[in-house]
Amino acid sequence: MKLLTFILLVAAVVCVPIQHSQKRQKANKLLLISFDGFRWDYDQDVETPHLDYLVSKGVKAKYINPPFVTMTSPSHFTTITGRWIEDHGVVHNMYFNTTTLIKLPHKLTLRKTQWWDTGVLPLWITAQNQGRKVASFHYPGGNVTYGGQAIYRSLGESLTHPDTNETEWRLNIDIVLEWFAKEDFDFVTLYYGEPDNVGHRKGPETEERRAVIRQIDRTIGYLIDSIERYNLKDKLNVIITSDHGMTTIKKAPDVNEIRLSKFIRFKNIKLELLDYGGFGMILPKEGKTEEIYQGLKNAHPHLNVYKKEEFPERFHYSKNDRVLPILVYGDLGYNVNGRIILHINRGDHGFDNKEMDMKMFFRAFGPDFKSAYLSEPFDSIHIYPLMCNLLGVKPEPNNGSLAITEGMLFNSFENSDLEVVSFRSDRLSGIIGLGAVATFLFLVAIIHVTYYAVLRSKREAIRERGRVAEAAICRRAGRGSAMDKVPSGKTGKRQEAADLEKGSDKEEWPREGGSRRIEVKNSIGCAGAEAMS
Ligand SMILES: [Zn+2]
Repeated sequence: MKLLTFILLVAAVVCVPIQHSQKRQKANKLLLISFDGFRWDYDQDVETPHLDYLVSKGVKAKYINPPFVTMTSPSHFTTITGRWIEDHGVVHNMYFNTTTLIKLPHKLTLRKTQWWDTGVLPLWITAQNQGRKVASFHYPGGNVTYGGQAIYRSLGESLTHPDTNETEWRLNIDIVLEWFAKEDFDFVTLYYGEPDNVGHRKGPETEERRAVIRQIDRTIGYLIDSIERYNLKDKLNVIITSDHGMTTIKKAPDVNEIRLSKFIRFKNIKLELLDYGGFGMILPKEGKTEEIYQGLKNAHPHLNVYKKEEFPERFHYSKNDRVLPILVYGDLGYNVNGRIILHINRGDHGFDNKEMDMKMFFRAFGPDFKSAYLSEPFDSIHIYPLMCNLLGVKPEPNNGSLAITEGMLFNSFENSDLEVVSFRSDRLSGIIGLGAVATFLFLVAIIHVTYYAVLRSKREAIRERGRVAEAAICRRAGRGSAMDKVPSGKTGKRQEAADLEKGSDKEEWPREGGSRRIEVKNSIGCAGAEAMS
């Protein structure tokens, strides 16, 4: 019994790391959905029963602060890396090169690895390097490679992909939930191009925009039903967010619109990123920076103009080699136009991220999220450590903090746990688990061998004492002694036997042991010792 107890004790100690590891393996799955351009308050002027349902069943943030520049690719990459834009370097929707002067439109830039692979690892790569199975569905940044590594599964948008097809939206949800349910994916990002598209075309304060929000709400209802249908309710966390808001563009004759060609000569510009919402950057030709800067500095009451080195720190934007020497942004609603005013967009973004119209939407629900939890606003950089915690993945260095968001979780993993999991891929966990089992079996073997060695030695001592007693008895009875059989080298036992013969204290032992012990010895040594019983 003692042996069994001891083995169980050792097993308990050895198995602690295994249980710990299993706890880490129990991290739930995570689906991140982004609705491009979903302003924080788009659910407030239209009926959204399913989004409202999530307020009672999950977490709502009052709003989220996007990074500056409030633009799709830069903001999405902040969400998936937890880094300010000046750190991750995806500074614009458009790829550009100051040597070749090549500029690529947004959709082509989505496939340009050179633009995204800046050395900052997005969560997809970090998670899969730590043993998670990940996928990206149309999410910006998901269709390129990072340090040569591709995301395990990634679907990119075609150049002509329709943004508003509700049937396709539902199909995409089915595809993603099948990945979770049937292929055991851990983390998937899913992107929708609405309501950004309608916000640009029709403006944010329109019935068309509200109709798209209703469509999004129906899609969320479909998602909630489908999660039940795929039996994922207890294992899938969902975060629904966006990348920036949208504001109505102010137009003439109501306002004096910003057109830079009124103030500067474009022949002095080497490369410019203008006519792209509320933000622009300019690379003047050599020796022309000051002229361009002075030409724009006080040109328009609603145009903000900075040299790169003077751009406000609070934007966390300009300290990156890709940022051009002169930065401009309009006050809310004032787009920055270049040579001419195209008047295409009725709504736009790219403005100061402190403007309420630029704020992002946030909902979350699932087994790890509290119900009816209203979160104060926070910066979108904090979504990244939240996602890492949900997935049990050790984060890369980032600008976010779990402390901002962990109040919305029932049980967040302790940081120490994440440090443990940090260098534990599934494979490594398996190796560690096998190692623990091997260690346990080894210890059991040692205990077994030691226990029986001690037992043997005790029995040997008993036998020797019996032999000594037997020898004494035999001598008294005038017969041969079993003492002769004591192996040489066991001098201690010989001495003990001699003591016994001499009538030391130990001599009493066989007597106290009673005749039974002697009887055992009798059968081996001194025939006729029956007289002693
Ligand atoms: Zn947009």
